[in-house]
Amino acid sequence: MPALNLTEDSIQYLRKSNQYHGGNIDVRYIEVTSSNKATILLADRKLSLVMELKDNSKTTFDEAIGLSTYSSSRPGVLSYFSIFENLWIQTELYQQVKEARDSLSHSNKKLEEANEQLKLQDKIQKEFVNVAAHELRTPIVPILNLSELLYSRLKKRDIGRSGRLQQIQQEQQMMQVIIRNAYRLHQLTEDILDVTKIESKSLKLKKELFDLSDTASNIINDLKIDSNIRLLYKVSQSTDNDKNIFMVYADKGRITQVISNLLSNAIKFTKQGTITITINTDNLDNNELIISIKDSGSGIDPEILPRLFEKFVTKSDQGTGLGLYISKNIVESHGGRIWAQNNMLDQKGCTFWFTIPVADLHQHNMSHGSSDRGKN
Ligand code: ADP
Repeated sequence: MPALNLTEDSIQYLRKSNQYHGGNIDVRYIEVTSSNKATILLADRKLSLVMELKDNSKTTFDEAIGLSTYSSSRPGVLSYFSIFENLWIQTELYQQVKEARDSLSHSNKKLEEANEQLKLQDKIQKEFVNVAAHELRTPIVPILNLSELLYSRLKKRDIGRSGRLQQIQQEQQMMQVIIRNAYRLHQLTEDILDVTKIESKSLKLKKELFDLSDTASNIINDLKIDSNIRLLYKVSQSTDNDKNIFMVYADKGRITQVISNLLSNAIKFTKQGTITITINTDNLDNNELIISIKDSGSGIDPEILPRLFEKFVTKSDQGTGLGLYISKNIVESHGGRIWAQNNMLDQKGCTFWFTIPVADLHQHNMSHGSSDRGKN
């Protein structure tokens, strides 16, 4: 029904009488969308009356209405009925859209407010974590150093003279527990500080030219591993014996951190077996070295495999799940990639790979002898 003042009285009347008769007639207004003289249709599913509105300015019914058609023809009535049905649905949809739009703009505003709040909370939280980690780091370093010192004195103590072998052994064990935990706490604070740097996009790289194969062998030499783990180091050189082939322009400390993290994970999850670290030059055409660390340990739990490099993803009792997240960010900030896979079924364990772009030696004025790197 077009929403005109003219019809309002009749509608009120209809509504009232409808209440007396069980209230099964519903009236809904539709918007008047054109200025054309409307034809009024009255229809139910059996009968219809179509009246032509001939002259709207007239005040008497006879003068205003033109040709009127009454019909009980089923197809005719049903076609009017379906027009009404369509209008009905359209009106309902329009209403819903309007309501949705209203509530959307309301909830958008709320969402914006909540978002602002969240940003503020997030900032406060990050600042807090940053300050807390800094504060924690300060006392941990002397605890670590002094415990190490005490432990080394304890080891040197003359067991023969004191004759208290058992007591000394116990003291040594206690010191080891203190040192181990202080190291863990130290690592945790370092990781938290790294994460805050990554998240605030302030992780700075101190790049320098260095030979990755030398760095890797230094890391391996410094590693303390049990005798039941065999550590192999391979450098696979696909081209001629170019001594500059492993030169990279990167943050040595950060790359060391990545390799150490992958190696310490490999050691942690390989109680007994072999760990192989390889630096591969197969992808030199793409100006990158591929470093792989393969172990024969437990393999990566399939449950976490798809989220392996995300924050706090861990299957280790004492782990935080930050190491791989930090490693990924370090590798990517150098323009490299990192990925992992469980080894084929016949082999145990898993392999981690990461790439690092080789140095453009021409750019760094370091073109030695046979190297033709950096020309492409
Ligand atoms: P954390 O070692 O503190 O848990 P990481 O981010 O270094 O944190 O590792 C996340 C998780 O990835 C580990 O808890 C472990 O479940 C899995 N993972 C990493 N390296 C290996 C590996 N070499 N073998 C098996 N699982 C691994």
